[in-house]
Amino acid sequence: MDFSFSRADEEFRMMVRDFFENDYPREIIALLERGASPTKADYQTSERAMAAKGWLAVNWPKADGGTGWSANQKYIFDEELERAGALNVVPMGLLYVGPVIYTFGTEAQKQKWLPGILDSTTFWAQGYSEPESGSDLASLQCSATPDGDDYIVNGTKIWTSLGQHADWIFCLLRTDNSGKKQEGITFLCIDMSTPGITVNPIITIDGKHTLNSITFENVRVPQANRIGEEGKGWTYANYLLGHERTSYAHVAGKRKLISNIRVTARATKVDGRRLIDDPAFQRKLSELDVRLNALEITVLRTLASVADGGAPGNESSILKVIATELAQDITEVGMEAFGLYAAPAFPDSVAPDWTRNMPLPANAASSVAHYLGNRAQSIYGGSNEIQKNIISKHLLGL
Ligand SMILES: Cc1cc2nc3c(=O)[nH]c(=O)nc-3n(C[C@H](O)[C@H](O)[C@H](O)COP(=O)(O)OP(=O)(O)OC[C@H]3O[C@@H](n4cnc5c(N)ncnc54)[C@H](O)[C@@H]3O)c2cc1C
Repeated sequence: MDFSFSRADEEFRMMVRDFFENDYPREIIALLERGASPTKADYQTSERAMAAKGWLAVNWPKADGGTGWSANQKYIFDEELERAGALNVVPMGLLYVGPVIYTFGTEAQKQKWLPGILDSTTFWAQGYSEPESGSDLASLQCSATPDGDDYIVNGTKIWTSLGQHADWIFCLLRTDNSGKKQEGITFLCIDMSTPGITVNPIITIDGKHTLNSITFENVRVPQANRIGEEGKGWTYANYLLGHERTSYAHVAGKRKLISNIRVTARATKVDGRRLIDDPAFQRKLSELDVRLNALEITVLRTLASVADGGAPGNESSILKVIATELAQDITEVGMEAFGLYAAPAFPDSVAPDWTRNMPLPANAASSVAHYLGNRAQSIYGGSNEIQKNIISKHLLGL
């Protein structure tokens, strides 16, 4: 397999770089550099700038409003986006439910939901997990009971990312309890303004409000909002999860983080010696570089395998594990560089004097939140232990 980029790819890269350097909103890049959390309006500003170029639905087929780009072009676009420090798209609409709608939805459903995703007017949330159903997702019990042309939805979804901003939520719901647990699950799209829905915030260890629990109390949802067949939601859910897990790579973003750590380690002196000159620290950075290169090749292989519009297979589980473990380890090494700057701020600190007058480097303020927030990466999208089970069952034939 040839992973080198052609001359045309490199020209494409220059065009994308030019966009991010000259036409993409600077205020969004500045906001992320400060480590601030984007608001809904910030996401829309960012996504609309990309939509104006026709570059928002990077992975969608052209016929459905996507770019129709090759696997290499998509990869280059993501690389340039992260290299510029721009904001990644909200995945729930563009990466998760969008492909489900254009693959399994009716023409009417495509017309109803895809335009709002494509111009970033409609925000979606993912309603899979429940208080008693996470890894064992198929045991979910939040129910949808048929009633005339509608379903009546009752139950609780939890860990719903950005649910506080959502206009719509796609849910896996129990419509039948009589057979195997994977059967009798139905994929339903629900308008978040429907009476009976309550969004309750969950504040995480990084001090941010990203997560929510959402309760549904006798919520009336038209059956016309069901994707595909009743009871077949598990099939659509798995198709979606393949796309979700493949989206975690963020190779260029990781490269930028490692580069930030290097910059800080060059400027940081520990007892008079530059941190970057510490052989043990250098070795850790080199190991991160090597693992990042291996991740990049794995991503390119996965992209090549879905280049003709197919769904990612079980290799997306491998990608998820190595990408998220690497993300966690990068932020951990980052704490060694940035953490020193926090020492004098602790109450009753006995940190040495040389730590007191060090100017705070860019990215230091957000590094702890980043480190803590990244712990969740090996949990969401199906925990890494579950991915390892999938790998052993399907790839090793166990
Ligand atoms: C930041 C964040 C964002 C999220 N966003 C969303 C969202 O938008 N929408 C949504 O629906 N969900 C979301 N989730 C939920 C996420 O998918 C679940 O947390 C995840 O699937 C794990 O489920 P659980 O939390 O119930 O843990 P559990 O399933 O209770 O697992 C607990 C521990 O046991 C281990 N374990 C469980 N079963 C096995 C097994 N068979 N073999 C080996 N180990 C096992 C797990 O790996 C884990 O370490 C999010 C979670 C987080 C942390």
